[in-house]
Amino acid sequence: MTPDSLSTLTLAISGAAYLVAALLFILSLAGLSRHETARRGLGYGIAGMIIALVATIVLVVQNASVAAIILLVLALVVGGAIGLWRAARVQMTGMPQFIALLHSFVGLAAVLIGWNGYLETADVAPDLVGVHRGEIFVGIFIGAVTFTGSIIAYLKLSARIKSAPLVLPGRNIFNLAALGLFVVLTAWFVITPDLWLLIAVTVLALLLGLHLVASIGGGDMPVVVSMLNSYSGWAAAASGFLLNNDLLIITGALVGSSGAYLSYIMCKAMNRSFISVIAGGFGIAAPSQSAEETGEHHEITADETAQLLDEAKSVVITPGFGMAVAQAQYPVAELARALRDRGVTVRFGIHPVAGRLPGHMNVLLAEAKVPYDIVLEMDEINDDLPGTSVVLVIGANDTVNPAAALDPGSPIAGMPVLKVWEAEEVIVFKRSMASGYAGVANPLFYRDNTRMLFGDAKDRVEEIVRALSEVRA
Ligand code: NDP
Repeated sequence: MTPDSLSTLTLAISGAAYLVAALLFILSLAGLSRHETARRGLGYGIAGMIIALVATIVLVVQNASVAAIILLVLALVVGGAIGLWRAARVQMTGMPQFIALLHSFVGLAAVLIGWNGYLETADVAPDLVGVHRGEIFVGIFIGAVTFTGSIIAYLKLSARIKSAPLVLPGRNIFNLAALGLFVVLTAWFVITPDLWLLIAVTVLALLLGLHLVASIGGGDMPVVVSMLNSYSGWAAAASGFLLNNDLLIITGALVGSSGAYLSYIMCKAMNRSFISVIAGGFGIAAPSQSAEETGEHHEITADETAQLLDEAKSVVITPGFGMAVAQAQYPVAELARALRDRGVTVRFGIHPVAGRLPGHMNVLLAEAKVPYDIVLEMDEINDDLPGTSVVLVIGANDTVNPAAALDPGSPIAGMPVLKVWEAEEVIVFKRSMASGYAGVANPLFYRDNTRMLFGDAKDRVEEIVRALSEVRA
């Protein structure tokens, strides 16, 4: 076989492999949308990624010099080793910041590919030069916004910087002006591709990404995480156009559109307008009277809680970030089993942004083998809460804050919450009276039907399970 026909054959095979990989990615997304099929979906995704990687390596090895092959192997080994090492060690509670960091790499890669596209224009057909320059600008712009935005999100989510929003005077004007300037610079660059224009758009986009995420406050971070996910997809798609790589375009578009749709669903779930989230939102309003209100709180012990649960007809458990921190899902599942064995109706109520990751609580409960049919979403359980004997709030705070529903002056006013205070009795498991992620005080703790059970959630739930087994031993 001649080198030319070998090269044509490799191109055809890798093209077919890319198509198979793209189909597997679509099947993966479909599988991941339901609990029952999530594991299979993950399998499709892994298979698609292996096929895509092998096809890309074969393509590169076929056409590249020895130096390029050495670089490829080096990048694979070093990148793969760091990725494996970090992913093996990351705690579930550290996933959001880990994902934000990974998004920043996609952004950085798009910026580097854009710059490379400027320095290497040899293969571009003369009538496509203008389009190519436009692609360079779009790739660098989206990539740089994703890069700095994701770094700020990483710093906020890992509490290395404050989650409060940065409120600069005229910040909306800055954002709009930056977008306008980007359009002007792009047109200019298409006509005269000067290096300074490339530097200018890179700096502009880096600053815009930094400002966009810095100006978004605590409660809106879930939307930001999924929005950056979407940006990283578009950045990858832009790189796909520059590299003439169909798989990157398809995969980027899949990530970009599914991330955008997730952001939309989250905004709807939190009763927020997408535009106002992007322009900065929660936490900006001055704290209202009730947010500063303290008053008397009442405590309860694990033994007393066990007694209460033993007499209950129905129990709803609303977990939050604290359950993840305490790794309390296993004793919580055991408690649910013990209560159901006694004939108590037990259900879980999951808020769409509970924890630090979309679906965070569902993953933990599935891990602890809680049956799916007793795990309900906020909208499915809220109407049943008034008739519930006891609600156990396990490490949740913002997602059960009555101020969101009852206090129009609250910084989280309008965000739908689990109306746990409507139940007969509420037990709140936490270690102190501290506020939750959004930094807003919670009047639930001072209600007459609320009892605080202080301490680590795992220890307390284990104590309750033990006490419960003694109540009717
Ligand atoms: P919160 O973050 O509001 O509150 C968690 C509570 O858990 C804290 O009040 C803390 O109180 C308690 N806690 C922490 N550790 C323990 C422990 N070991 N044992 C017992 N309690 C503990 O949780 P929610 O889940 O209610 O709300 C999620 C928040 O995170 C929302 O504001 C949401 O917008 C935001 N967010 C959500 C994301 C998502 O995608 N789901 C992503 C990013 C942010 P104490 O310290 O006193 O123990």
